Amino acid sequence: MTEPKKTKLALHWQILLGMVAGGLIGVLLNLTAREHFVTLEGNVAGSFTRVELQDINSMALLTTYTGTEKTQHFVIGKSPAYPDISHSDMDSFRKDQPELYRMFQEHGRSWARWVSDWTDRLGDLFLRMLKMVAIPLIVCSLTTGVLGLGKAERIGKMFSRTMFYYLCTSFLAIVTGLLFVNVIQPGERSESAMTVATDTVIKSAEPVSVMLFSQLEKMVPTNPLQALAEGDFLSIISFTLMFALCALLVGGKTLTTIRDVAEAGFEVMMKMTMAVIALAPFGVAFLMLNATALNGTDVFAPLAWYMLTVLLALLFHACVTLPVILKFVGKRNPLEFARAMSPALLTAFSSASSNGTLPLTMASVEKRAQVSNQTSSFVLPLGATINMDGTALYEAVAVLFIAQHTMNEPLSIGLQITVALTALLVSIGAAGIPHAGLVMMVIVLQAVGLPLEMQGLILAVDRVLDMFRTSVNVWSDSCGCAIIDRFTESGSGPVEV
Ligand code: ASP
Repeated sequence: MTEPKKTKLALHWQILLGMVAGGLIGVLLNLTAREHFVTLEGNVAGSFTRVELQDINSMALLTTYTGTEKTQHFVIGKSPAYPDISHSDMDSFRKDQPELYRMFQEHGRSWARWVSDWTDRLGDLFLRMLKMVAIPLIVCSLTTGVLGLGKAERIGKMFSRTMFYYLCTSFLAIVTGLLFVNVIQPGERSESAMTVATDTVIKSAEPVSVMLFSQLEKMVPTNPLQALAEGDFLSIISFTLMFALCALLVGGKTLTTIRDVAEAGFEVMMKMTMAVIALAPFGVAFLMLNATALNGTDVFAPLAWYMLTVLLALLFHACVTLPVILKFVGKRNPLEFARAMSPALLTAFSSASSNGTLPLTMASVEKRAQVSNQTSSFVLPLGATINMDGTALYEAVAVLFIAQHTMNEPLSIGLQITVALTALLVSIGAAGIPHAGLVMMVIVLQAVGLPLEMQGLILAVDRVLDMFRTSVNVWSDSCGCAIIDRFTESGSGPVEV
């Protein structure tokens, strides 16, 4: 008797299904719960105070009226969703107004908020699993990759090709962004109703040279173990690279032992990552549900032209520029490659974090797209940290949009070149976490002398755009991997440094 054939949906379809289901449930919950605005009144410390807290797409607009004084702050990240990059107004609110803060926490507990809180936790559990495997996976994979290349000369070549690819694609992304924003002119078309948040409190940023130098400093960690514990990607990559190179220099039995240990560790970590991938359909569903459940869409209308410009430019870069390079330089079929990469791309979309997605990107590139470990172990971790085409493009469009909306005349060519260069540097410096591009934009605004508070205009739709630009960031890293792999010689030759 023949066994009935089990039909199992391919993983990328499962993840897509999870994403759509999560998104739909979230939208339904959103429609049933119109409680984005919480107003609290009371006597705090002897004076009458009213606090309005408006949930706008993972941000909160906090307006406090004390006596006749009115202060407004945008809080990046709903408490406590993104504590690491919050501008910490929520923290000072919590400290200064503990009674009101407690009231806010207890208020407005609707069904939707309850579900959203729990799916947030469950989605976070999935992201934690990815973070759990990320560091050991990078260390083992990079060590195996470098030892596999075998010669310092090959590593040098790989490094220069990788950097060349990163710079070229980021530059093309910025040019695309500038073209779209100059042709569409979203700032001219947007209504003045947008000036909702001109009272935003935003700290000024450190100069671009300081930011770049601090990236360089990270490459020389004073304590590699601390870098491992803190999950500092750049420090970990540079130390592992130096360690593997020195192992090649030492050679002999030491090299064999290190290679065996790294290969064994890599095999185990890959197995663990594949197990986490199997959970991706659920993880992505939870993340999407959370992203759609409470976010108000009312803020989209005045910013429609701006969003359209960013999305069209991202679409062009992801569906035209990168596939053309992939096809003609990498000699790969873009559609097949995109299908192989879809677990990573969909996770990047729902989590808005390329660092968080990295283990999935590595596993998809190696196991599904058949790119060698020697290339992926090198190109991907570095790419997640410094190659961000989507972010670079977004910086350029957003800053020009702000300029068009704020000034009467268009930004001069000279200043547009300044925007392009600083956007490139900022995309290198931005971390692969949600909203990092938004926080770093202050540097570009400062470089061309635009008022920092005008960033308030675009805060409300940042989360949605973040999802798209993060997918483009991960897509560019993956394409780079396939392209560089085509030119990578395998390291079966004698060990030479
Ligand atoms: N969220 C993006 C990333 O993780 C960075 C950004 O905010 O642009 O790649």
